[in-house]
Amino acid sequence: MKIALDVDGVLADVIESWLTYSNKIRPSISKDDITNWDFWKKLKINRYDFYEELTSCWKNWNYIPQTEDNLSITTQNLSNFGQVDIVTARESSTDSFVKNWLKLHDVTYQNYVSVIDGPMKADLDYDVFIDDSPLNAIKFLKHKKMFFYTHNHGINTFLIKTFKEFLLYLKLLKN
Ligand SMILES: [Mg+2]
Repeated sequence: MKIALDVDGVLADVIESWLTYSNKIRPSISKDDITNWDFWKKLKINRYDFYEELTSCWKNWNYIPQTEDNLSITTQNLSNFGQVDIVTARESSTDSFVKNWLKLHDVTYQNYVSVIDGPMKADLDYDVFIDDSPLNAIKFLKHKKMFFYTHNHGINTFLIKTFKEFLLYLKLLKN
C-alpha cells in the first residue's frame, strides 16, 4: 500500500502559527472562528495574502506545532502498513523548512514529494491519501481512497480526527 501523507493541517498545525501572526495585524480571531478549510474567504482575507502569510510562517518552522502528540511513533506505525511518502503542495521555497520540521519531529517517511497545486496530488500513484483539503478530496475520491483529516465536517469521505483512528481504519482495510 502506498500512502500519501499531507503536511499542512495534517502533521503541522501551521494555522496556529498563522493565527499568532494574523492577530497582530488584523482584528483578533480564535481557532474557534476557523470552521472551514477556506475560512479566510469568510473573513474577507485575500487569498494571495493568506498563502503568502502561510509561506512566511514556514520560515519560522521551529515554532510550528504538531497537530497531535507523538507523530514520531504514529508515523512509524503507519509505515508498518506500507510505503509512507510525504506529499505536499506548496511553494518550493518552503520545502527545506518543511524537511527541517519533519526531522525535528522525527517523522518517518520514505520520499518527499512536493507539487505546486493540491489537486495535482490525485494524479500521483498512491492508494491512500491522508489530507485535509476538500478541493483535493473531490479529485481523490474519483479513483482513490482518502482519509480526510479534519475537525470540520461537510464532505463525504472517511473522516478521521486522529491518527489513532486512521490506523484502525487501515487495519480494517487490510482484513
Ligand atoms: Mg493540507
